Amino acid sequence: MDLLQKEHERVWKRMKAAKSINDVQATIDLLQEARGAIAADPTKASITLAKLQNPVKASFDAANDSLKETHSGLNKYTKALDKLFKDRPLPSTEYDALSSSPSLVNRAIAMHLLREGQFSVASTFLDEVNQAKAPAQPEYDGAGASTSNDDNSHLLLDQIQSGRIREEFTTMYHILYELRERANLLPAIEWAREHRTLLEARGSNLEFELCRLQFLWLFHGGMDPHSSNSVGRQAALEYARMEFSSFTPRYLKEIQQLIGAMAFWPNLDQSPYRHIFNNPTAWSEVAQSFTREFCSLLGLSADSPLYIAATAGAIALPTLQKLQTIMKAKRTEWTTQDELPVEIPLPRSYLFHSIFVCPVSKEQTTDQNPPMMMPCGHVIAQESLQRISKGNKFKCPYCPSESHPKNARKVIF
Ligand SMILES: [Zn+2]
Repeated sequence: MDLLQKEHERVWKRMKAAKSINDVQATIDLLQEARGAIAADPTKASITLAKLQNPVKASFDAANDSLKETHSGLNKYTKALDKLFKDRPLPSTEYDALSSSPSLVNRAIAMHLLREGQFSVASTFLDEVNQAKAPAQPEYDGAGASTSNDDNSHLLLDQIQSGRIREEFTTMYHILYELRERANLLPAIEWAREHRTLLEARGSNLEFELCRLQFLWLFHGGMDPHSSNSVGRQAALEYARMEFSSFTPRYLKEIQQLIGAMAFWPNLDQSPYRHIFNNPTAWSEVAQSFTREFCSLLGLSADSPLYIAATAGAIALPTLQKLQTIMKAKRTEWTTQDELPVEIPLPRSYLFHSIFVCPVSKEQTTDQNPPMMMPCGHVIAQESLQRISKGNKFKCPYCPSESHPKNARKVIF
């Protein structure tokens, strides 16, 4: 990997330093100048052309030299790439869970593009999907249970097409642009105010976080960070007087910290408040929580599900490949389609649904056979509970307590 990164950097540097485009432009300028001169005075054609010969040749040589360098760099980079990523066959796709639901896949792709702010790509993609869909429609002859799912997702695709979601994401990216690129929090604050009731119902702190950052931004001088300290402090105090009163019931302590810090202003860095006033990640944190809240009010997760699924898939791929090789060598098969025979270690942020395996039956619980907790606190699957108790009072398999099935409670993760 190190070698690859080194070659990549080298190519990148070379590309940035490359003068090829300037050399080519110089050649074009020379030729155009000559054409102009000849057009103005055709009698000087031969002398103009003669004068042109040497500079044009030099210019070509320079362009070629610089291209040669870039080319050799690219060559080395490709070789390093080939060496690191050896050509391996992908696992076979005999069981393709998604092949029967192309519309769900298309919808996921379209949503991903929209939420990444790639609006024109999304629109081209949707147009092409619709073009491909139109003649294929009669083929849906109800083969398999997935067809009804697929029909639903057509509707969803149409919703995306109708533009509401697109408009929402356009708004989101506008607000994020102002926030990130122009240090302008006001559009985000305005949005948070408009959605205050919904945000508060979610227990969100977004509006206060935004206003606190606005306060800090003013404190540090706002648009003009080099202005004198007192101007910034004054502006921050005025902002606090105007805006913070509505926050006092919920954020009294935080507001007291902000105002209390004023007393420390000449040496905030030694004060207990330094982490609030000098937080280098404050802006990106606020941008993140804005994105999360915005998406959640749309009923979406903060990260693109397609991105998460593809990343988790890429992490799982080597394990699955190994599994396939072993299965082939031992001539065995794995028949349980909804479950993997091996653990795939995913990062914590990628764990969404806890699973529970009944300690009695050793089976994973499902919606039909949910985990049940007995009054003693031990949990087994519902079917095991029914089998052991037969509807009567029974002894817990894991402790001396006795319980009645009607006292057992369904456990929801
Ligand atoms: Zn027990």
